[in-house]
Amino acid sequence: MTSQTTLPAGASPEGKPSKRPPPHSVGPVSLLILQPTPFCNLDCAYCYLPGRTNKAKMPMETVEKALVRTMESGLVAKKFSIVWHAGEPLVMPKDWYREADALVQKHCKDVVVTHNFQSNAVLVNDEWCDIFNGMNTRMGVSIDGPEHIHDANRKTRGGKGTHKSVMKGVECLNRNGVPFHVISVVTKEFLYDYEAALDYFESLNGSGMTSVGFNVEEFEGNHEDTTMDNDVGTRHLFREFMRECYRRHAAGRLNIREVREYDKFVQKGGTRPRLMKTQQTAPFRIITVGHDGGFSTFSPELHDMDMGDGTKFIFGNVHDNAILDAFANPMFARYMGDIIDGYSACSKTCQFFDVCAGGSAGNKFFELGTMAGTETLFCDYRVKETVTILRDEMGLEPIVDDHPALMPSAGAVAVAQAVKVQ
Ligand code: SF4
Repeated sequence: MTSQTTLPAGASPEGKPSKRPPPHSVGPVSLLILQPTPFCNLDCAYCYLPGRTNKAKMPMETVEKALVRTMESGLVAKKFSIVWHAGEPLVMPKDWYREADALVQKHCKDVVVTHNFQSNAVLVNDEWCDIFNGMNTRMGVSIDGPEHIHDANRKTRGGKGTHKSVMKGVECLNRNGVPFHVISVVTKEFLYDYEAALDYFESLNGSGMTSVGFNVEEFEGNHEDTTMDNDVGTRHLFREFMRECYRRHAAGRLNIREVREYDKFVQKGGTRPRLMKTQQTAPFRIITVGHDGGFSTFSPELHDMDMGDGTKFIFGNVHDNAILDAFANPMFARYMGDIIDGYSACSKTCQFFDVCAGGSAGNKFFELGTMAGTETLFCDYRVKETVTILRDEMGLEPIVDDHPALMPSAGAVAVAQAVKVQ
């Protein structure tokens, strides 16, 4: 089975030599994101999903078509993950997933498929845990920290906090032996009390939690603002938070995704991007299929978004089109060109390119209005500040870049200046 094809000549970016596949290589599929419903049972303050009150459900025929189209594309290697995410995946009927998994067994023979659920855990109960345990599942739970931090943003439609309900879900996962990782959103309010947040996540050790990852609050879709601004105080708090993350991870107190992934990157000689990978700058490493069968690629956050010119970010529909039909879609060609331009510009101008590999097309679009741009506030926090602090804590030389990151120690500043002079 083919796992990688290549775009026509001329699409290749001019960048420095790299061992990584170039951004214009197509596939292999690593994530198939199936959006069972846009609906979510919560109404979190920072949510970017425009259709989260829409109760439409993906018909089983669409699930089957999405699987068949993906397998027929020639872009699947030996394994991929299905991510059930858009609204809250557990608002769907439990039998719906039993049927969907039967279709995976039918159509994805000889391929290892992992089911990934990213849930707010409010609806988790024993029967859901039976389903998770019966499928090859990785479970992710969204928790922002202790009650006062979590409930500041993660609320019901009636405005009530959800922390207590989430904890019941976590206890249920633990009782049923379902391990889970946590994804937490870092806002300015979170940073004001980051020690309490980290203490709280440490208290979840032994509950089945395997690790915690910190997503910086972003400008995305309907969420057109972020508390993670360019204010010097916010930046300072973020740096202190990241130092504490490193210390707790290094002391074995907490398994923190950002530290673990950067440490792996360094251990492997810094030859593969670990923090953000290249999935979002190359076509069809990620395929996103909406509840109505519309499909897209690159950043999943862009799926079905209004692009401001009367079009939506959709390149075909699994009921009518093969996945690679997207290459005949002029909109796909335009965005692909922008993404390659952005990737190429990042490779020429950013000293963090080897870690980041050009970032997220969606984030560039939402912050800069184009996927052809380079630095965003998001990549500043998520990549540059994070890496700068982690390198300092690891005793590594800083990466010298024009961005305003604090050079963390006098020794590091001296090294940075010496390198700049040469
Ligand atoms: S400018 Fe931002 S998106 Fe581009 S490579 Fe650097 S960190 Fe990544």
